[in-house]
Amino acid sequence: MAAEIISGKEVAADIRSQLREEVLGLKEKGIHPGLAVILVGEDPASQSYVKGKARGCEEVGIYSEVILKDASITQEELLGEIDRLNKDSKIHGILVQLPLPKHISENAVIDHIAPEKDVDGFTPVNVGNLVIGGECYLPCTPHGIIELIKRSGRSIAGKHAVVIGRSNIVGKPVSLLLLQENATVTIAHSRTANLAEVARQADILVVAVGRAKMVGADYVKSGAVVIDVGVNRGEDKKLVGDVDFEGVKEIASFLTPVPGGVGPMTITMLLKNTVEAAKRICKA
Ligand code: NDP
Repeated sequence: MAAEIISGKEVAADIRSQLREEVLGLKEKGIHPGLAVILVGEDPASQSYVKGKARGCEEVGIYSEVILKDASITQEELLGEIDRLNKDSKIHGILVQLPLPKHISENAVIDHIAPEKDVDGFTPVNVGNLVIGGECYLPCTPHGIIELIKRSGRSIAGKHAVVIGRSNIVGKPVSLLLLQENATVTIAHSRTANLAEVARQADILVVAVGRAKMVGADYVKSGAVVIDVGVNRGEDKKLVGDVDFEGVKEIASFLTPVPGGVGPMTITMLLKNTVEAAKRICKA
C-alpha cells in the first residue's frame, strides 16, 4: 500500500494559526515578540531564506528586523551588531543567517548571541542544555521533524530510529531529540558500513545528507516512517530530496515530500521559539 504523505505545509499552517492567537494574547499584556535576522552578503539562497523568515513573522504578528550587511564587514563589526541586539528590548530572538564569509568565524559569531535570544538553538549553552535535558530552545529543523513524526500518529518511544547524517544543525540534534522521545537511535554517516542494511532496520528513518535521491527503496523497511530533510536541485533545477520519493512511497507507511515536508516546519519552529523567547525574557 502506498505511504501516507505527511504535509509539512498543513502542519506548519496549524501551528502558525495557534501562534497568531498566542501573539495576540501577549500583545494584550504589552509584550510584542520580536526577531532580528542578520544577513551578511548577497547569497541568493540565504536571501530567499531570510525573506521567508520575515514573511513568517508578518503572518503571525511577530515584529521583525532584517539587518543587511556587506560581505566585507569585519568580524568585530558583526559582533558589535550582535551586542547591540543582545541589549535591544524590542528583540527577543536573534538569528545570523549562515553561511558567513570565510574571514568570519561562525562559531565566534554564534557564541556571541545571548543564550536567552538564541532562537536557532545553536549556541554552545543551548546545545549543552539539549544534551543534558536542560531548558533550551530546540533547534528548528530537528524540532520540526519531531512534530511531523508525532503528527503521523506513530509513537516514537521504543522504536528504532536511524538518522543518516551527523551535522550540528540536523543529524546530531535530531538524534538527541529522538533519544529524548525514548527511541533507540543509530546515527549513520559517510563512513557507515553497509548503510542500506543499517537503514533497513529503522522503524523511523530520518535522512539529512544533501545527496539527491540517495535513499532508495532498498534502504527502507516495509511500513517505516521516512522523513526526508534533504533539499537539492535536480537536473531540471527543481527541488528534490535525499529520498527517491516514487520508489520509497510504495514501501514506507509515512513519507514527507520535498518540497512541502520538513522545509515549512523549520521557519515555523523559529517563530515558535521567538514567541517562547519573548515569554521567557518578559517572564509572561
Ligand atoms: P551537511 O553537509 O552538514 O551534513 C551531511 C551529512 O551527511 C554528514 O554527516 C555526512 O557524513 C553525511 N553524508 C554525506 N554523504 C553521505 C553518504 N554517501 N552516505 C552517508 N552519509 C553521508 O548537511 P546538513 O545536515 O546541513 O543538511 C543535510 C541536507 O538537509 C541538505 O540537503 C540541506 O540542504 C538540508 N537541510 C534542510 C533543511 C530544511 O529546513 N528543510 C534545514 C537544514 C538542512 P560525514 O559527517 O561523515 O561527512
